[in-house]
Amino acid sequence: MKNVVERMTDLLPEEDGCAALVTSGSNRRYLTGFPSSAGMVLVTKNGAWFMTDFRYFEAAQLKAKNCHVVMYTRASETLQKLMKEQHVKSLLLEYSTLTLAQAGDLEKACEAVGVHAIKDESLDTILRTLRIIKTPEEIQKIRDSQAITDASFEYILSRIHPGVTEREIALDIEFFMRRNGAEGVAFDLIVVSGKNGSQCHGVPSEKTIENGDFVTMDIGALLGGYHSDMTRTVAVGSVTEKQRRVYQTVLDAQLAALAAAGPGVVCSKVDKAARDIIEKDYPGTFGHSTGHGVGVEIHEWPRFAVSDPTVLLPGMVVTVEPGIYLAGEFGVRIEDMIAITASGTENLTHSPKELIIL
Ligand code: ZN
Ligand code: ZN
Repeated sequence: MKNVVERMTDLLPEEDGCAALVTSGSNRRYLTGFPSSAGMVLVTKNGAWFMTDFRYFEAAQLKAKNCHVVMYTRASETLQKLMKEQHVKSLLLEYSTLTLAQAGDLEKACEAVGVHAIKDESLDTILRTLRIIKTPEEIQKIRDSQAITDASFEYILSRIHPGVTEREIALDIEFFMRRNGAEGVAFDLIVVSGKNGSQCHGVPSEKTIENGDFVTMDIGALLGGYHSDMTRTVAVGSVTEKQRRVYQTVLDAQLAALAAAGPGVVCSKVDKAARDIIEKDYPGTFGHSTGHGVGVEIHEWPRFAVSDPTVLLPGMVVTVEPGIYLAGEFGVRIEDMIAITASGTENLTHSPKELIIL
C-alpha cells in the first residue's frame, strides 16, 4: 500500500512544477508521524522534505517517516533552495490554518524565486480527502487510544462520590490516562454535574458532587498522535423519574443514530435519526450536531450534522453524541466513536451505557 505522502502526491494538480507546502502541526504530523512545534513539509511529485530547526533535527532524522529531513536556520531560505532544486513553479498553501502574516511571508519568499504562491482551498481539500479515510493502522491507533479512555472510565466509577469535586474527577481521569500510556488528553476533559450538566462544554469546577446529581464526563486520550472521544453520564445516589426519562431518550436517540450509520449513508441522515427522537419529547434541548470525525485532530470531517451531505465510506471514524440539556436542571450526553466498515460499523467504544447509579 502506498504511504500517505505517495497518496498525497497522486492528488497534486497535474500541471508541471506544482508542489504543496504543509505548515499546520496536525498535517505535518499526519504526513511524517513526527510531532513538532516548528517546521514545514514540502511535497512535490518526487517526494517530501520535512524542514525543521535544530531543536527537532536529530529526533526527526530518527523518527520522521515518508520524507527527507532538512535542517534550517532561516526557514524561508531553505524553502527557496529546495523549491529551486525541485523546479517548483507553483506552491499550494494551507489556506485555512496560516495566519495572514505567515501567508504574506511565504508569498514574498515564493515571489523572490519566481514561484507562484496559491492561496485557495485546493491544498486543504487534498488533505481533507486523505484524512477523512483512515487506514487500518490509523484506526488501530484510535482503537488503542479509546482503550485507555474506556479503562479510565471503569477506574473513575469507584472514585465518584458525594463530596469530591468536578475538578478532582477530571484530574484523576487525566492522571490515569497518562499513567497508562497516553501522551496526553485529547482535549480539556469535561466533568460537569447537577445543574452544571446543562452546559454541554462546561469547565470542571470546584462544585462538589451531591446525591441526586447526574455527572457527565466527556473524556478522551491522545496516543500515537490519534485522539479518542467518549461521553458518559452517570447518576449518584438516586435518580428522579424525569432524570430517568431524559436519560432513556438520549440513549434511544444514540442507538437510533448508531443503527442509521453505515457505508453509503448520508451524514445528515444519521443526525436526523437522533434529532427526531429528541425533538419529539424535548424540543430545543439538543443544540449541537450529533457527531464529528476524529483522527489527528479531535474535531475533523465529516460531521453528523443537518448540513453535511458527505456520504459515509469505509475508513471514516465519527462520534455519535446526542444530548439533552435542561438549563437550570441537568444534562445528559452519551458519546461513542464508530468506524465505518465495508459492511456496517465497528463501535470503537466499549464502556457500558445503560444508566449507572453509583
Ligand atoms: Zn466528546
Ligand atoms: Zn465529540
